[in-house]
Amino acid sequence: MRNALTIDVEEYFQAHAFERVIDRAEWDRMPSRVVANTRRILALLAEHGTRATFFVLGWVAERHPELVRDILAGGHELGTHGHAHHLVYRQTPAEFAADLETSLAALRRAAGGADGVLGYRAPAFSLTDDTRWALGIVRDHGLRYDSSILPVTPRQAALRGGKRYGMTAASRFATRVPEGVWEIPPSTVRVGGRNLAVVGGGWFRILPLWLTRRAIRRINAEGQPAVLYLHPWEMDPEEPAVAGAPALARFRHRVNVGRTEGRLRALLSESAFGPLRDVFATQLGQ
Ligand SMILES: [Zn+2]
Repeated sequence: MRNALTIDVEEYFQAHAFERVIDRAEWDRMPSRVVANTRRILALLAEHGTRATFFVLGWVAERHPELVRDILAGGHELGTHGHAHHLVYRQTPAEFAADLETSLAALRRAAGGADGVLGYRAPAFSLTDDTRWALGIVRDHGLRYDSSILPVTPRQAALRGGKRYGMTAASRFATRVPEGVWEIPPSTVRVGGRNLAVVGGGWFRILPLWLTRRAIRRINAEGQPAVLYLHPWEMDPEEPAVAGAPALARFRHRVNVGRTEGRLRALLSESAFGPLRDVFATQLGQ
């Protein structure tokens, strides 16, 4: 069975871990790493003849249109990660729609016209019960799927209340939701009656590779493709230190970044991966 590989293309300093220490106004002054890091992933995928979905931040597409063109030239799927990495629950519906539109315009400009964007991935999976309205806005912008809802126990947001990510009642697998789009959630495995999102991001870096492999096998044994997610900064051992970030956030952001590339390489050599658009072609009507 073919699994899906998704990459959220953003700068390390745009990651949620640093949101409170690096102001958006400083983004343009920070040393950029996203082009080199994404190109390393593109090279690795080319080596294995594998394609993936790249959810690119509009902010990145605006500054590095050539990177978007490289992604498309490699036959990969281009998706949107929004424009300025605002968590969904911190935006009003109108602000969310404006951010999504700006991102789609930036992707279209970078792609030189037809971008064929079908999917959206929210920053830090911040699409929750409180922000379900976002799915209707995603649909209204012509997108066919969202890949942002973690079917896990909601994690409370530190600021302004509400839930940061997680929707307990959400399906673990691709589902057509009442808002008229497909929800293709990042994969979880059931452990002791709970869903754990273990095949992406920090978990992928912290857990031993055999556990990731076993998780993918278990999902496949349920008759479902696994949906993995990673960020370009997760493969960058040379990332500049960010002053002022809380120790735990720094740890989660940096742990095992030197091992991610080797782990991904191993997975790519032993099983087949593809972009969401292809892996879920039947559902998306492609
Ligand atoms: Zn992100």
